[in-house]
Amino acid sequence: MNIILLGPPGAGKGTQAERLVAERGMVQLSTGDMLRAAVAAGTPTGLKAKTVMEAGELVSDEIVSGIIGEKLDMLSADTGVIFDGYPRTAAQADALDTLLAARRRTLDHVIELVVDEDALVERITGRFTCAKCGAGYHVRFKPTQVAGVCDACGATEFKRRPDDNEATVRTRMAEYRAKTAPILPIYEARGLVSKIDGMADMDVVAGEISAILAR
Ligand code: ADP
Ligand code: AMP
Repeated sequence: MNIILLGPPGAGKGTQAERLVAERGMVQLSTGDMLRAAVAAGTPTGLKAKTVMEAGELVSDEIVSGIIGEKLDMLSADTGVIFDGYPRTAAQADALDTLLAARRRTLDHVIELVVDEDALVERITGRFTCAKCGAGYHVRFKPTQVAGVCDACGATEFKRRPDDNEATVRTRMAEYRAKTAPILPIYEARGLVSKIDGMADMDVVAGEISAILAR
């Protein structure tokens, strides 16, 4: 099973991917997470990506498709993959077709999380993650059960992303509208797209995704 979670920043892709990983043993390939790891490690890719990410613009297609190819090569053929935040342009969608075909993988579903843009700023400015295990939270919509303690691993350190501020969010949304939303028709023409109300409660969204994957 290979699926794409598509939606603007803050739509809930990472939240739903985290559940699919825990519940189905699928692997989440988030280009945003991979790029942040490259920035933290100070690799040549990270050095190139850092300022682009801070501005909320898109990193080059060659870089992101390159890292996706490397990650796919590390997986066994029967591991299900969730693409989160990739592809984001028509060139990346083309590259993904080539990467999948070369590994005899097929794309099963493209799940679009449809959200009200006005709500995304609050989602993104309230987002934080566990510094140790990466579990995702929100100050209002998904607080930790015990204040200051990660539900998943018990750690007490948390992180916020440098690009999760209102100014950058607006640029990221504009990038989504201009470059990512236009790839949906490519997948619609292949009958792969299912649209879900991303404004619904997280559990409801998760239930709808499960229903799609059961088809
Ligand atoms: P994305 O990966 O699409 O950028 P996230 O999954 O990180 O988005 O979600 C952004 C923030 O919104 C997180 O803090 C998350 O806890 C919260 N969130 C995710 N889904 C929902 C939802 N259905 N309702 C309310 N808040 C949500
Ligand atoms: P995300 O974690 O998906 O919100 O991505 C954070 C940032 O990483 C984006 O704003 C881009 O700068 C960069 N990025 C992540 N994925 C891609 C991609 N597929 N193509 C181009 N840039 C990306």
